[in-house]
Amino acid sequence: MAGTRLVFITGGVVSSLGKGITAASIALLLRRRGYRVSIQKLDPYLNVDPGTMSPYQHGEVYVTEDGAETDLDLGHYERFAGVTCTRSSNFTAGRIYSSVLGRERRGGYLGRTVQVIPHVTDEIKAAIREGFGEDTHIAIVEVGGTAGDIESLPFLEAIRQLGTEAGRDRTAFVHLTLVPYLKASGETKTKPAQQSSGILREIGIFPDILICRTERPMQEEHFEKLALFCSLPRRNVIEERDVSGSIYEVPVELAAQHLDELILEKVGLPPGGLDLSDWKEMLGRALSPSGGRVTIAVVGKYMALRDAYKSIFEALKHGAIACDADLETIGVESEEIADGSGLTKLEGVNGILVPGGFGYRGIEGKIAAVRFARERRLPFLGICLGMQCAVIETARSLAGMEDAHSTEFEPDTKHPVINLMADQAGVTDLGGTMRLGAWPCRLEPGSKAAACYGTLDISERHRHRYEFNPAYACELEKAGLVRTGLSPDGTLAEIVERPDHPWFVACQFHPEFKSRPLAPHPLFEGFVRAAMEGR
Ligand code: GLN
Repeated sequence: MAGTRLVFITGGVVSSLGKGITAASIALLLRRRGYRVSIQKLDPYLNVDPGTMSPYQHGEVYVTEDGAETDLDLGHYERFAGVTCTRSSNFTAGRIYSSVLGRERRGGYLGRTVQVIPHVTDEIKAAIREGFGEDTHIAIVEVGGTAGDIESLPFLEAIRQLGTEAGRDRTAFVHLTLVPYLKASGETKTKPAQQSSGILREIGIFPDILICRTERPMQEEHFEKLALFCSLPRRNVIEERDVSGSIYEVPVELAAQHLDELILEKVGLPPGGLDLSDWKEMLGRALSPSGGRVTIAVVGKYMALRDAYKSIFEALKHGAIACDADLETIGVESEEIADGSGLTKLEGVNGILVPGGFGYRGIEGKIAAVRFARERRLPFLGICLGMQCAVIETARSLAGMEDAHSTEFEPDTKHPVINLMADQAGVTDLGGTMRLGAWPCRLEPGSKAAACYGTLDISERHRHRYEFNPAYACELEKAGLVRTGLSPDGTLAEIVERPDHPWFVACQFHPEFKSRPLAPHPLFEGFVRAAMEGR
């Protein structure tokens, strides 16, 4: 850690300020200024990881290359900054406590009383150090939660200590806070922001830079007031106003206020040059596409919370950027279309995507959506559970297996076209035990997938327990559903397609996790392009 500079990002007043997007934007800007940057998220809740949490509680579970089930902010980090996160990029309080308690049980504390300070804080500091390497110039650490939360305290104490150890001239504390506009009085208020930075000062953290999330433009008096009350130079108060068009505007807005230069100055590194021309060019296409409107329906079961499918919606946007499409996505609750009459919700769309999921609720609606896409010859992309639904649909509708199902939902089905993977038998723990992370896959030459990827050897990230039962491969192929991506040993079906359909591709893996605004995922690009061509 000798020369590594530390940038800590905390949040104040309320959650959901977009701290992850801000942290990711900072990582992008610092990388573009020529620095090797790592970025990590610390989550104060007690689950060991978000893998077993409901998407309604936590949004999407983001899967890393090395198979960790993590916070969705890591998706922002990878998409914005082009970094590759690992299981060291996300620690929860639960994970920290479980290693402290494990060590205590093994006698690792040699009879001492185990306490939050220093034992839990030491474990947090070790976790932060694990998040970057010897050659990292700048380690960015985002602390989840809000200043003032009881459960955040050990994390804030740990970053206070680390900041002191690294040296105040090598550390920057960035505080993201809320500056609300009160409609009733017609005023912008700085008091909540003053108070949240006050909470940090009470525990020994002096924010160096204040980033103010606002709906309305702040006036000079607000900047000056915040600078005065928070003991900051005026220029260290930054405005981060809601963006109307695209979250990918955020780094450009922050750079315009020299946030990246302020951080570098604070940690004692030269600013270097900043070239965002490719990013701005991408943004230009995202904001004013010339290829016309295309409408994609995403049929899932947590549609009330778009965060539950964060990477899917982002990857669709990337596909649209690549195709110059004016993308409209509509979220359709799968439960609402199960009975056939609800299918009218899919009338007029140009493509249908069925994403991943768990549990029986909404399954019949997803299968109905696959059938709709197949019969209407609408471009279809199935992902994970979406692929499993495509297999079930072909088995039921075209291979005479009316009761075909996945054993996840119907353990005694006569036709288990989707069944538990062999190495999952006997697994009882739910956390971290699925087939997770990156696995290689070999594509069939001439397939739609091969055309999209432009190569035959790919690697994609997985998160599932069930698979396409190879015993049914022949029968389903006769019914038009062909396996076009297999694990290198030829056993696992990773992609299926319908060659008799304009664009019907479904994969067992999650391509959405690897899509980037500057490098749209080939399957999402192919899917959006097919949807445009079919208009
Ligand atoms: N529930 C399915 C399985 O475990 C699909 C998982 C998913 O869509 N991520 O195989």
